[in-house]
Amino acid sequence: MPPKLLKKSTHYIELGSYQYWPVLIPRGIRLFTYEQIPMFLKENPYITDGYRAHLPSKLCLRSIFILSNETVNIWSHLLGFLLFLSMGVNDMSTVLPAAGASREDYVIYAIGLFCFQVCMLCSVGYHLFSCHRSEKTCRRWLALDYAGISIGILGCYVPGVFYAFYCNSFWRQVYLGTVLVLILAVFSAQVHPLYLSQEWKLVRSALFCFVAAFGVLPACHWVWINGGFGTDIVQSFFPRVMLMYLIAASAFMFYITKIPERYFPGHVNYLGASHQVWHVLVVLMFYWWHQTATYIMTYRHRNACPEYTARG
Ligand SMILES: [Zn+2]
Repeated sequence: MPPKLLKKSTHYIELGSYQYWPVLIPRGIRLFTYEQIPMFLKENPYITDGYRAHLPSKLCLRSIFILSNETVNIWSHLLGFLLFLSMGVNDMSTVLPAAGASREDYVIYAIGLFCFQVCMLCSVGYHLFSCHRSEKTCRRWLALDYAGISIGILGCYVPGVFYAFYCNSFWRQVYLGTVLVLILAVFSAQVHPLYLSQEWKLVRSALFCFVAAFGVLPACHWVWINGGFGTDIVQSFFPRVMLMYLIAASAFMFYITKIPERYFPGHVNYLGASHQVWHVLVVLMFYWWHQTATYIMTYRHRNACPEYTARG
C-alpha cells in the first residue's frame, strides 16, 4: 500500500522522517537492517538485521513480545531477575533460618542478591528501551546499564569479602572499604561526558576489568592467611573462586571479541550472538557466586575461627 493511502490511526504512527510505518499490524513492530538504523545504534556491524528503532516508550515496552535481535537479551536478564528474586525469598525464608544465620548474614545476603537484581533490571531496561526514538533516552538507559554492571560487581564482592575474612574483621573492613571506593570511582567516571562515547570504549572496559581483577588481591591474601594451598579450607574453596574468574573471563571475552557473529555475520542475529552469551554467563556467574557464599557461610558457622586470625 503506498504511504499516501495510509490513514493515521491506532495502527499507524509517525516515526521521525519516516512516513507512517505500519508499526502495529496488529502487533508487529517494524524491524530494520543495520544500514537502516540511526548512527547511535550502530554498535555491532556483524548483527545485520532484526533491529527495532524509532519507537516511542510504549512501543519499546510492547516490543518485549516480538522477536527482534534484542529478545534474548531482554528475556535472559528478566528471567535472571526473577531467579535472584526467588532465591532471595528462598534464602530469607528457608536457607538462612536453617543455617542458624545471624543478623549480619541476613544483611550480607540481602545486599548481594539486591545488587544482582538491580544489575539484571538495569540491563533489561537498556535492552528494552535501546530502540527509543530519542538518542538522549537511549544514552540514559545505556548509562544505567553500565551502572548496573558496577552494582553487580559490588554484589559479588560484598559476600565474597565478608565470608573470606569472616575471622579477620580488620582486613574485612579494609577490603570492603576499598571495593566501595573503587565502585564509587567507576560511578564518578560514568558521569564524564565522554564516558559513553566510542573513544572511551577501551577506558570503559579497562575500568571494569580493573575493578573485577582487583579481587585477585584479597583472594591471594586469603590463601596466605589460611596457610597456603596445602590447607583443607583453601583446597575446598579456591577452585570455586577460580571457576568464578573463569566464567567472568569467558563472559568478557565474548563481550569484547563479538564471537561468534564476527565469523558468521548475519547468521546469529536472533540467537547465539556474543551479547546473548555474555548475558547468560553473567547470570551463571552470579548464581555460582551466590552458591559459593552459601557454602562458605555454612563452613564458617560449623567451624570456629582459628585463634591466630580471631585476634585480627
Ligand atoms: Zn546487555
